[in-house]
Amino acid sequence: MQYATISERGKSDSEPFSLSRYDRQIILHQIGVEGQRKLKDSKVLVVGAGGLGSVVCYYLACSGIGYIGVVDPDIVQLSNLQRQILHNEEHIEMPKVISAMINLKKINSEVEILPYPDEINKKNVFDYLKFYDLVVACPDKFETRKILNKACFRLNKPLIVGAVSEFEGQVFDVIPPYGPCYGCLFEEAVDDTTTRGILASVAGVIGSIQATEVIKLLIGFGKPLHGRMIIYNALDGVFREVKLSKDPSCRICE
Ligand SMILES: [Zn+2]
Repeated sequence: MQYATISERGKSDSEPFSLSRYDRQIILHQIGVEGQRKLKDSKVLVVGAGGLGSVVCYYLACSGIGYIGVVDPDIVQLSNLQRQILHNEEHIEMPKVISAMINLKKINSEVEILPYPDEINKKNVFDYLKFYDLVVACPDKFETRKILNKACFRLNKPLIVGAVSEFEGQVFDVIPPYGPCYGCLFEEAVDDTTTRGILASVAGVIGSIQATEVIKLLIGFGKPLHGRMIIYNALDGVFREVKLSKDPSCRICE
């Protein structure tokens, strides 16, 4: 293991991680050494290693999340590099999850990256989710978000949902067993077959908020984006908060 030497050198005697690596977040009283230990013990599944997933994975790896699973069936293409900052020219034609693993390990060899070159579907979703504490939805398909939403309620795991299109993005938390859930808000299928433009930095904003929500929920500080959605509009340069309410007829959430 070529990374063993680096990680051994960085570790403190009493902690399974390097204190100096994380000192800027450990001094935040909401995190501290205790919070850092929680992150080290946490398992997060990121579904989609594209525009949003790239940013989420980077921040989770930097922050010291112990186990990061990445699911994506695609290979890296030149047209991805405009916004999918986890990949690079050397990784073109490589499975995105392998590209992700290589680059994330370069940033933080103390975290475990588990790559799954696969697509989430109704059958395999439970196998993927069961190992993880929390799921981050960054797929490009509406259907995948619906499948993740349902499965997260069955297994009682939080889901951080993000979506971006053109100059706008939205993000909110789904926290079982209580609604509102993704199914309450998007009962009708969203048309995701048309290829739309995306300003890369907008994915950066939304992915960063998703990663922030993960850390807040894992450690348990701050106010989660539960029952409210943040919408960022880059053209107008504004953030809006929209209150979300449970659909009384939704059968997924309480
Ligand atoms: Zn619901």
